[in-house]
Amino acid sequence: MRIVVCVKQVPDPEAAFSMFKVDEQAKKVIPAPGLQWVMSPFDEQAVEAALRIRKRHADTRITVLSMGLETARNAIKHGLAMGADDGVLLSDAAFEDADSYATAYTLAGTIRKLGGCDLVLTGRQAADWDAGVVGAGIGELLGLPVISFAMDIQVERGAVRVERVLDDGTEIVEALLPALVTVSNELGAARTPNLRETMRAARKPVTVWKAADLGLAASEVGAAGARRVLERLFLPVKNNRCELIPGSAQDQAAGLAQRLREARLI
Ligand SMILES: Cc1cc2nc3c(=O)[nH]c(=O)nc-3n(C[C@H](O)[C@H](O)[C@H](O)COP(=O)(O)OP(=O)(O)OC[C@H]3O[C@@H](n4cnc5c(N)ncnc54)[C@H](O)[C@@H]3O)c2cc1C
Repeated sequence: MRIVVCVKQVPDPEAAFSMFKVDEQAKKVIPAPGLQWVMSPFDEQAVEAALRIRKRHADTRITVLSMGLETARNAIKHGLAMGADDGVLLSDAAFEDADSYATAYTLAGTIRKLGGCDLVLTGRQAADWDAGVVGAGIGELLGLPVISFAMDIQVERGAVRVERVLDDGTEIVEALLPALVTVSNELGAARTPNLRETMRAARKPVTVWKAADLGLAASEVGAAGARRVLERLFLPVKNNRCELIPGSAQDQAAGLAQRLREARLI
């Protein structure tokens, strides 16, 4: 069985808010120098899910796939150190400023070039923009059934059985392989690579492909392929006003009711 896990490198979600500036003119977030970049935590859990499947199905090969800057190689290395078998890095100026569609298109095209796979795993959403679109997009483009928000994944007799998280509980859904599953944090903590695996990871193969290697339409990748129109990117200004209503408890209650009525809240 072959599993491809899509992993995105994101700014460290634990980083202080002050480490980011918004350039409203360029409509870009400018990370401060020294900001750490890490594998998106939901994607770590997707790698963990793949490793748990391999524990029960020893003939499984796990490929970690990332599109990003050359530094995204570190996210792939992290996946390899966790225990994945090989990596594919898509790094090319042509991929820059992709939106969710162009990202899904490029990742789907890469999976096709790899000869397909039995199971594609993604995080439920990337921890930077929280869009949660790319997984379903890859599934759509590859014609695969998609099961989202997995907290447990079992593969048996050519099908995937997923316990998925709902707002008020869980449900179990099955699909025939090949399929795509997006992994939620309820799966549980991802393993921390040990020293031996980290050293072994240095010898695992990482293939680097550019846009031309994938044979994809140039008009569909990166900024050229983006379908999302970003109207404005800004930090919302919060105007908090605090008014203390004077007087007795009765006056305060009456004053509060009056103000709530004026604000059309009651
Ligand atoms: C308002 C807004 C403004 C943005 N502005 C910019 C910008 O100025 N410049 C810019 O470069 N980007 C920008 N982006 C981000 C860009 O659109 C995203 O990189 C792109 O949409 C794909 O990631 P996502 O966050 O939508 O992924 P999601 O749909 O949240 O990701 C779901 C899963 O898909 C997989 N995945 C996602 N991306 C990758 C990847 N690259 N490689 C491998 N797997 C992946 C992961 O498994 C991930 O867990 C912006 C996004 C938004 C919402």
